[in-house]
Amino acid sequence: MAGRRVWLWTVALLAMVASVSGASEPRQPNIVFIFSDDHAYQAVSAYNDARKLLETPNIDRIGREGVRFDRCLVPNSICGPSRATVLTGKYSHLNGFYNNNNSRFNGSQTTFPKLLQAAGYQTAVIGKWHLVSDPTGFDEWHILPGQGDYYNPPMVHNGQPVRHEGYVTDLITDFSLDWLKSRDQSRPFLLMCQHKAPHREWSPALRHLGHDQDRQYPEPETLFDDYRGRGKAESDQRMSIAKIMTPLDLKLTTPASLNPAQRVAWDAYYGPRNAQFEQANLKGDDLVRWRYQRYLHDYLGCVKAVDEGVGRILQYLDDEGLAENTIVVYASDQGFFLGEHGWFDKRWIFEESLRSPLLIRWPKVARPGGSTSAIVSNLDFAETFLDAAGLVVPDEMQGKSLVPILKGESPADWRTSFYYHYYEYPEPHHVRPHYGVVTDRYKLLRFEADDLDSWELFDLKTDPHELKNVFQDPNYRATVAELNQELLRLRAELKVPELTPEGASGNRPAVDPQAK
Ligand code: CA
Repeated sequence: MAGRRVWLWTVALLAMVASVSGASEPRQPNIVFIFSDDHAYQAVSAYNDARKLLETPNIDRIGREGVRFDRCLVPNSICGPSRATVLTGKYSHLNGFYNNNNSRFNGSQTTFPKLLQAAGYQTAVIGKWHLVSDPTGFDEWHILPGQGDYYNPPMVHNGQPVRHEGYVTDLITDFSLDWLKSRDQSRPFLLMCQHKAPHREWSPALRHLGHDQDRQYPEPETLFDDYRGRGKAESDQRMSIAKIMTPLDLKLTTPASLNPAQRVAWDAYYGPRNAQFEQANLKGDDLVRWRYQRYLHDYLGCVKAVDEGVGRILQYLDDEGLAENTIVVYASDQGFFLGEHGWFDKRWIFEESLRSPLLIRWPKVARPGGSTSAIVSNLDFAETFLDAAGLVVPDEMQGKSLVPILKGESPADWRTSFYYHYYEYPEPHHVRPHYGVVTDRYKLLRFEADDLDSWELFDLKTDPHELKNVFQDPNYRATVAELNQELLRLRAELKVPELTPEGASGNRPAVDPQAK
């Protein structure tokens, strides 16, 4: 009896010691969510794109020490809607943010930062926000108004307008690190570090202007796509490198936000190259080729600063001994076309636009060096973070926790199909609204606009570049029927309204070439 009492006393004492020594180390993991804007997976070296466009050693490190997701799909491939989905874990038709033209985020709805904050997390969002209303659920917010500027950007800090000298990606990284350094070390934290880059108009840091030493980038096979084999929607868009890029996109005019000293450096790089271009008087395909090269130089230059910023944050976590108990996520708000189909921009259900890069490190949970082709989504982020923090996930959220996938498990009930729905039309790029179902092999989609109601089917196995609509091909009759059933099932499960609500397209009449 006495022996048992001593044993119980010893156990109680050990528990007390463990709890005291653990008091300064939060058991719940910290979360660092690094989110870029329009970063194509083709421009992340971890994804081994055939063109080998650039090296992103720091972003790659997250995947090497964690898991690389090869099929992270977004439900509505543009900036604001994607951000609303990340926060709410819901599709546009339930979170109310359909488009960048007239949607405004209802900040009173449930979001994962609010739930983490209520559970004792310190929360911050720094950088691009783009949801019109002020952030809610954050102890600290320091955001760009709207799209923001690349150089010397005005920002809004906890409601107060502020102006900063410098390059936007560096500033967002600086402010993220400043916040981490000033945090309450006794509590876990959520940092959402959200870059503007590499969004249009793709202005690199001045130190990166000569980053590629005038390399000629390999062209994608479909740079001169003629859209044969597909319908009106694909040929009637306004997002081609050939026709739509502006002088500012092409750096033929100088950005107004540069200060005089920065302008000297900018002109020293672009001036002689632009003079050479004017003199060459390029036409037709040669002009498209030149534009593609200029686009890639600028876009990839922007990515370099993002990658450096990721490296600085990883270094801070290492230096402070925080790496082990911190989940680090790198993702973009959607994918992007880097010349495929002759395009820039996003919006489409097609692979380059639909897929975002996603790499997640969580030591002791995520298996290092893992990769997965499971269909995951930015719908899943909210549930993943709540699950990781040991919190209850609200029933209304529509994603799934990625924790089992991170552990290397293959849950039997994991999704094998995905619902996509794009609304914004006609401006700025004249991509007709469409919805559809995506599987590992097929995409069945329906365009729904005043002047177009048509279906398309793509077979990624026989047609990886998505060039041939086989909807009418009799060989695919059974596939169409099967996918249509799945589409109906998904629309019911996800509570998609029968009719698209009035105003979902945004229907902005004036052409604004700099929008989104
Ligand atoms: Ca975007």
